[in-house]
Amino acid sequence: MNKHAKIFVAGHRGMVGSALCRRLRERGFENLLTRTRSELDLLDARAVNAFLTAERPDYIFIAAAKVGGIHANNQFRADFIYENLMVEANVIHGAHRAGVQRLMLLGSSCIYPRDCPQPIREEYLLSGPLEPTNEPYAIAKIAGIKLCESYNVQYGRQYICTMPTNLYGPNDNYDLATSHVMPAMIRKAHEARERGDAELVVWGSGTPRREFLYVDDLADACVHLMEAGYDGPLLNVGMGADVSIRELAETVMDVVGFKGRIRFDSSKPDGTPRKLLDVSRLAALGWRARVGLGQGIRMAYRSAPFVAQQLPAQPPALPALLRVLSAGRAAGAAVAATTP
Ligand code: GDP
Repeated sequence: MNKHAKIFVAGHRGMVGSALCRRLRERGFENLLTRTRSELDLLDARAVNAFLTAERPDYIFIAAAKVGGIHANNQFRADFIYENLMVEANVIHGAHRAGVQRLMLLGSSCIYPRDCPQPIREEYLLSGPLEPTNEPYAIAKIAGIKLCESYNVQYGRQYICTMPTNLYGPNDNYDLATSHVMPAMIRKAHEARERGDAELVVWGSGTPRREFLYVDDLADACVHLMEAGYDGPLLNVGMGADVSIRELAETVMDVVGFKGRIRFDSSKPDGTPRKLLDVSRLAALGWRARVGLGQGIRMAYRSAPFVAQQLPAQPPALPALLRVLSAGRAAGAAVAATTP
């Protein structure tokens, strides 16, 4: 990849897109092309075509997507399938029409069958029924994978697909109604500590297992693959290790410094029992995750808007906050030592 290459990052304000921009700049790529939603509506095929034909980027990362946690996916099913299908179709077809040879589509581990063997290998795609709570989103992402594969087969494009596990980090969505479990746990534990609550409410039974990857690790993997010229099949990106939702809640409570109890709310769904990716294909290409779970949660917590904003805005609260963070650092260090 030439350092002057023009790189379009679709969705550059989101958690994944902003991490990709950070990583690309760190690697010396300065010619980044970005558009906000008001500048370019990715749901509008004509606008996307005009933009890509005028700009003719050398590389495209599609980090733009309608995403959310189990509740949002389940509730806004039409929005999730429609918006993701449209963004993928518009950007992938527009890229092809504009002569863009290299593109990466970011997907999700929920594309795999609900009850497939663990860890999940890439070849399990389309080998069984999907988890019902996020089926519309998963179908849209599977369609995106098939779009890329089809343009590669029919037109010789090099459109690659990476499937990250559950992500977290700076610019995550902390809205409790629509977020994923990690930002929800961080915010709930923080607020419970601030209010002096006796308990933290965790949805479901606490037994489902999930794998979590710090978003800068994902960005590093994606840029690594583009720079290496990877043009093979679908690739999983993960840590290669998972935890139960109960263990996650306990780890977050340690980092945040919340000392109360956990209460499980069984009226909320558990979703897929386990989602652990097999990352051996990516490991064979020379990449592995670097940020451990405890370390990642500490970094995410520090960057969360309700914590980051407190630092300059409320100087009197600073000593208390620093005490909390350093207590968290001590607790998290033990976690990092046991969690890859
Ligand atoms: P999923 O990976 O698609 O199932 O999406 P989530 O990240 O939203 O949820 C993962 C698991 O965490 C599910 O079993 C949820 O029920 C559980 N969970 C526990 N507490 C929460 C919470 O406060 N918010 C969310 N989103 N999930 C929670």
